[in-house]
Amino acid sequence: MIDYQVLRSRRKTLSLQVRFGQVFVRAPLYLDEQFINSFIKKKEAWLQAKIIEQNQTTNLCCDFTQGSKLFLFGRLVSLNIVFTSSVKKTTVYLSPLIEDKQKLVVDFPTSSLQKLADKSKLIIAVKKRIESYLKEQAQHIIQPRVEHYAQLTQLMPTAIKIRQYRARWGSCNNRGELSFNYLLMMLPMNVIDYVIVHELCHLRHLNHSKHFWQLVAQHFPDFIEAKQWIKSNQSALHWRAPEQ
Ligand SMILES: [Zn+2]
Repeated sequence: MIDYQVLRSRRKTLSLQVRFGQVFVRAPLYLDEQFINSFIKKKEAWLQAKIIEQNQTTNLCCDFTQGSKLFLFGRLVSLNIVFTSSVKKTTVYLSPLIEDKQKLVVDFPTSSLQKLADKSKLIIAVKKRIESYLKEQAQHIIQPRVEHYAQLTQLMPTAIKIRQYRARWGSCNNRGELSFNYLLMMLPMNVIDYVIVHELCHLRHLNHSKHFWQLVAQHFPDFIEAKQWIKSNQSALHWRAPEQ
């Protein structure tokens, strides 16, 4: 039997969704558990195939070499390292989306070819470029979204900072300052929003008590799915290429 999670709400119909290799059933509040169970059984083959397909993205970790995959806004993109003679400065950009595939291009000037001939040097350079790219994205994206959710929740931080953490997505201190990991840019937008709401809720409860989670649920009802996404893709979210 397939493992699944039931998310009940005031909806009238039953719906199935496989996300991040996990089955979610959206069901009306009082629908019989047995009915849900037999519904799952009927769809077992389809669900199984979906789970396998999605789990192929786990156990994957970017090593910053040509063609390796990394998450960007929840989409797996492959790394394309190129050297172009017409560019003077290294640039990082996303290629257009073609047939659901996308590349993150790191474009070095050919003048740096010699300097980066050594493979380990190239890896370090690529990693650094991608880090500044993610940092830039974070600086654009995080502030307005925090402001949006601060309005919504009426929880106002005293400061918003962007930084790199090794093992956390964000933090809140007792001075009311929120910090966010720029590697959040690897996560889907809705998961980024969850992390933002999570940290904002710490402005009221500086712990993970029942009251804290109630507040999160009130402002971000889909928080279980968001947490699940992070959990399911944990291995692909490590950032462990050699440090300089
Ligand atoms: Zn927390």
